Amino acid sequence: MARKPLKKRRGRPVGSKTQEPPPKYEVLPNRCPRCGSTRRSPYTHTERSSWFDRDGDRCQQITHRTQCLDCGFKREDVTHEYRGRFITNDN
Ligand SMILES: [Zn+2]
Repeated sequence: MARKPLKKRRGRPVGSKTQEPPPKYEVLPNRCPRCGSTRRSPYTHTERSSWFDRDGDRCQQITHRTQCLDCGFKREDVTHEYRGRFITNDN
Protein backbone atom coordinates (compact mmCIF):
# COMPACT_ATOMS: atom_id res chain seq x y z
CA MET A 1 0.00 0.00 0.00
CA ALA A 2 1.41 3.32 -1.07
CA ARG A 3 1.12 6.10 1.40
CA LYS A 4 -1.49 8.62 0.52
CA PRO A 5 -0.23 12.17 0.33
CA LEU A 6 -1.35 14.29 3.23
CA LYS A 7 -4.32 16.30 2.24
CA LYS A 8 -4.74 19.37 4.31
CA ARG A 9 -8.01 21.15 4.04
CA ARG A 10 -7.65 24.85 4.17
CA GLY A 11 -10.28 27.18 5.45
CA ARG A 12 -13.83 26.27 6.15
CA PRO A 13 -15.41 23.61 3.97
CA VAL A 14 -18.20 24.90 1.79
CA GLY A 15 -21.54 24.88 3.55
CA SER A 16 -20.14 24.53 7.03
CA LYS A 17 -21.59 26.48 9.88
CA THR A 18 -19.86 29.48 11.32
CA GLN A 19 -17.82 28.81 14.40
CA GLU A 20 -19.90 27.83 17.38
CA PRO A 21 -19.04 28.96 20.88
CA PRO A 22 -17.47 26.27 23.01
CA PRO A 23 -20.18 24.12 24.53
CA LYS A 24 -21.05 23.98 28.21
CA TYR A 25 -17.81 25.40 29.59
CA GLU A 26 -17.72 28.86 31.04
CA VAL A 27 -14.73 30.97 31.80
CA LEU A 28 -14.70 31.37 35.55
CA PRO A 29 -11.94 32.16 37.98
CA ASN A 30 -10.87 29.12 39.93
CA ARG A 31 -11.73 29.70 43.53
CA CYS A 32 -12.22 27.75 46.71
CA PRO A 33 -15.67 26.15 46.84
CA ARG A 34 -15.66 26.36 50.61
CA CYS A 35 -14.56 29.93 51.39
CA GLY A 36 -14.47 31.55 47.96
CA SER A 37 -10.83 32.56 48.16
CA THR A 38 -8.77 32.68 44.99
CA ARG A 39 -5.50 32.32 46.93
CA ARG A 40 -4.14 28.85 46.44
CA SER A 41 -0.94 26.86 46.75
CA PRO A 42 1.11 26.16 43.62
CA TYR A 43 -0.28 23.29 41.59
CA THR A 44 1.17 20.06 42.89
CA HIS A 45 -0.03 17.58 40.32
CA THR A 46 -1.10 18.01 36.75
CA GLU A 47 -2.97 15.52 34.64
CA ARG A 48 -3.79 15.93 31.00
CA SER A 49 -6.16 14.06 28.78
CA SER A 50 -7.07 14.94 25.24
CA TRP A 51 -9.56 13.86 22.67
CA PHE A 52 -11.07 15.01 19.40
CA ASP A 53 -14.54 16.37 19.09
CA ARG A 54 -16.95 15.63 16.26
CA ASP A 55 -15.35 18.27 14.05
CA GLY A 56 -11.91 16.80 14.56
CA ASP A 57 -10.79 19.64 16.80
CA ARG A 58 -8.47 18.68 19.55
CA CYS A 59 -9.72 19.24 23.08
CA GLN A 60 -7.61 18.91 26.15
CA GLN A 61 -8.53 18.69 29.78
CA ILE A 62 -5.91 19.66 32.33
CA THR A 63 -6.49 18.88 35.98
CA HIS A 64 -4.39 20.57 38.64
CA ARG A 65 -4.32 19.70 42.31
CA THR A 66 -4.10 22.59 44.67
CA GLN A 67 -5.00 23.70 48.16
CA CYS A 68 -6.72 26.82 49.41
CA LEU A 69 -4.31 29.06 51.32
CA ASP A 70 -7.08 30.50 53.45
CA CYS A 71 -8.98 27.47 54.70
CA GLY A 72 -6.78 24.57 53.59
CA PHE A 73 -9.46 22.97 51.44
CA LYS A 74 -7.97 20.62 48.84
CA ARG A 75 -9.44 20.80 45.40
CA GLU A 76 -8.81 20.17 41.74
CA ASP A 77 -8.83 22.98 39.24
CA VAL A 78 -9.88 21.86 35.80
CA THR A 79 -8.91 23.72 32.66
CA HIS A 80 -10.13 22.88 29.18
CA GLU A 81 -8.25 23.77 26.09
CA TYR A 82 -10.50 24.00 23.10
CA ARG A 83 -9.50 25.37 19.74
CA GLY A 84 -6.44 26.93 21.27
CA ARG A 85 -8.43 28.63 24.01
CA PHE A 86 -8.17 27.85 27.68
CA ILE A 87 -11.41 27.58 29.52
CA THR A 88 -11.61 26.96 33.23
CA ASN A 89 -14.46 25.07 34.71
CA ASP A 90 -15.54 25.23 38.32
CA ASN A 91 -17.46 22.27 39.57
ZN1 LIG B 1 -10.84 28.07 51.14
